[in-house]
Amino acid sequence: MSCKTKAVLKFLGAAETVTGSRTLFQVGSKKLLIDCGLFQGPKEFRIKNWDDFPMDPKEIDAVILTHAHIDHSGYLPKLVREGFHGPIYCSQGTADLLEIMLMDSAHLQEEDARFANETRHSKHFPALPLYNSYDAVKALELLWPVPSDKWLPLDEEESGTAFQLIRSGHILGSRFVQIHWDDGNGGKVITFSGDLGNGRSHIIKQPVSLKESDYLVMEATYGDRVQPKADILSVMERIINRVWSRQGVLVIPAFSVGRTQEIIWLIRQLEEEGRIPKDIPVWLDSPMAQNATEVYMKHEEELKEAFRGGELQPPICPQHYKTVSSADESMLLCMADDPGIVISAAGMLSGGRVLHHLKARLPHEKNAVLFVGFQVEGTKGRLLKQGLSKIRIHHKEIDVEAEILAVESLSAHADSDDILRWCSEFEKAPQKVFLNHGEPGPLGALQYRLKTELDWESEIAVEGVEYELV
Ligand SMILES: [Zn+2]
Repeated sequence: MSCKTKAVLKFLGAAETVTGSRTLFQVGSKKLLIDCGLFQGPKEFRIKNWDDFPMDPKEIDAVILTHAHIDHSGYLPKLVREGFHGPIYCSQGTADLLEIMLMDSAHLQEEDARFANETRHSKHFPALPLYNSYDAVKALELLWPVPSDKWLPLDEEESGTAFQLIRSGHILGSRFVQIHWDDGNGGKVITFSGDLGNGRSHIIKQPVSLKESDYLVMEATYGDRVQPKADILSVMERIINRVWSRQGVLVIPAFSVGRTQEIIWLIRQLEEEGRIPKDIPVWLDSPMAQNATEVYMKHEEELKEAFRGGELQPPICPQHYKTVSSADESMLLCMADDPGIVISAAGMLSGGRVLHHLKARLPHEKNAVLFVGFQVEGTKGRLLKQGLSKIRIHHKEIDVEAEILAVESLSAHADSDDILRWCSEFEKAPQKVFLNHGEPGPLGALQYRLKTELDWESEIAVEGVEYELV
């Protein structure tokens, strides 16, 4: 006779906010952490990374990751530094991206501490990084890539507790996490959506539709919004031809993982269709985006049919595609007057090489800047989008004469309609739905739509509260 296993859910982040995704799921004697994200964005969030972790990391048996984005994975080196030593289960694509992303995150933490020490702007001296490269290497050693669509036991004692990963179509390697346990009554399943893809990626496959799950933890980033569905190829075609015809440089601030790969594919596609000249040089000036692109190209199984074994070599890149590695090469590119397209990080202009490109290109009206991602309030990206005529970069006032443009339809997240559509594929409503990873507005809007359109009851997750699943 099987005995009933108690299951408890506790949100340790991404509750009523979109950052710091980490959820504890306790089933029987097992403590599992679903995602282990860093809090990002304004200081009031980032400061939470320095709080004591709400439990002893040594007590966590395993971490299971939905995907590689830092707000879902970037706390791992800190967790390991504080004693976590279990397996970190994830897809192979996620593991490969994390090799790049966790090292980059550690490097940024070290840079922040160094800057604080040089300028003495920290209350603590010497300022220490949240974690360092050594911690990141230790975390990477615990990665345990597993195949998808296969139940894998989490317990040697055959208690029935198992997990599986299912494609979620958000970025390369992204997965839903499902956990099964024996409740003494035929078993239960909980699904964690992680970030849900919208099926509009040109490169990676769409999310898998699920038919049932007893419990569901659903993200709500765009719970109150429907993204514009512009014909992105036509928009890019017009912009590229316009800037090229006046022999200008088009600077595209890049988000290294996901968006950059979509952009370079779009450019290649326009070339293939003869909609833009084939001789436009395209420079990718972001070592991290370059490494991430290589990971994308390595994982054919994650990509849409068109890229599998196709004759495009390399499959997603434009014809005159050049990668810029060293900082010296990057500087030379800034100084050159050749027209073309430059894709460079960081996406919100929070730092990085893109600032040097903007310094060189903004003062000339033949050039243009194209934003392809969300620009958070208070960032330089947001200021430029709002039409500022001068901007301060590296302590210098720069005149903005270049054309400033934005496309809004390249998000890797599902919007409100996409979430509803994905949920409507369920043959039976989950027993309970928890909404997380959203601001209060989107959470409330999604809760309302789920109730009125699907008759689903849902609860907005609150940080620190224990929810027993019965
Ligand atoms: Zn994400």
